[in-house]
Amino acid sequence: MIAGNDSPPFFGGIDLGATKTLSLVVDAAGSLLAEDIRPTLASEGPDAVIARMADSLRESLNKAGLPQRRLAAVGISTPGPVDHARGVVTHPPNLPGWRDVPLVSRLQQELGLPCFLENDANAAAVAEHRFGAGRGARHMLFITVGSGIGGGIIIDGALYRGVSGGAGEVGHMILNEDGPPCGCGRRGCLESYSSGIAIATEGMDLAARQPDSPLARIAAEDPPLTAEAVHRAARDGDDAAREIIIRAGRRLGEGIAGLINILNPELIVLGGSLTKMGDIYLAPAREAAATQAFPQHWRDVRIVEVALGDESPALGAASLAADLSQSR
Ligand SMILES: [Zn+2]
Repeated sequence: MIAGNDSPPFFGGIDLGATKTLSLVVDAAGSLLAEDIRPTLASEGPDAVIARMADSLRESLNKAGLPQRRLAAVGISTPGPVDHARGVVTHPPNLPGWRDVPLVSRLQQELGLPCFLENDANAAAVAEHRFGAGRGARHMLFITVGSGIGGGIIIDGALYRGVSGGAGEVGHMILNEDGPPCGCGRRGCLESYSSGIAIATEGMDLAARQPDSPLARIAAEDPPLTAEAVHRAARDGDDAAREIIIRAGRRLGEGIAGLINILNPELIVLGGSLTKMGDIYLAPAREAAATQAFPQHWRDVRIVEVALGDESPALGAASLAADLSQSR
């Protein structure tokens, strides 16, 4: 199964996303050989999705011109909490019908290869740390702000998983117990203030209250309203839309300040679609973090943007799978 001593092995990575599944094949140094992207079609349920994940990896191998026996192990990344030790996807918020799915054993059966499971944000943190903006950092925090907010914590150069693999859920740090409802079922989480869904929700309220505003026009022309649409309205001069993004950014900064005070990291790597908004979102975040973090902690931390793209969770998962197969 595993390549012979004279031929170094390759590793697979599969990132199961709510809408897209991305697989790739890398060499032992993490260099990308080939990748495949296809729709997840999560509504078809776990069986169909797991078969598609395996097909995607086989296609990546095809593109790389490698027989499957050259793969030593496969890393899988999925959204939401995972039971890392048992290889079980417990309750992903964005994958309907997935409850306690033993994804590792199912894919091992399907592929005939050792598989390994990691939360997607943790896997992306590992990829940025090993191959991206976090190279060389000892203590690093990775935060991704998109439709939701996720994170990964690197301490002393290694991923911090916590007791059961659930560490790094920075989006669900509660800032205000009476705050807006969060996708996790609680209230006032950082994600309920600063995520793309939070910005879109506030934007919908605003468009309903001010039917003549630029935002309401954009909402009517191009439903459903997204955070990107709120950003477009802000650029078109809608001050109320602009305020929504600034408030979301400020809350992000408050959350980051709390994390800086707890972890005293040297580096924060920020990624996700909302960072593409630039200063309108990130400047208030920096300001709030600078004001609220302890001065010593703030002095010693740098905040940078990610260096890798959408492939980072799959890449990190593949790299973790390489660790696993080398430790055996
Ligand atoms: Zn939450």
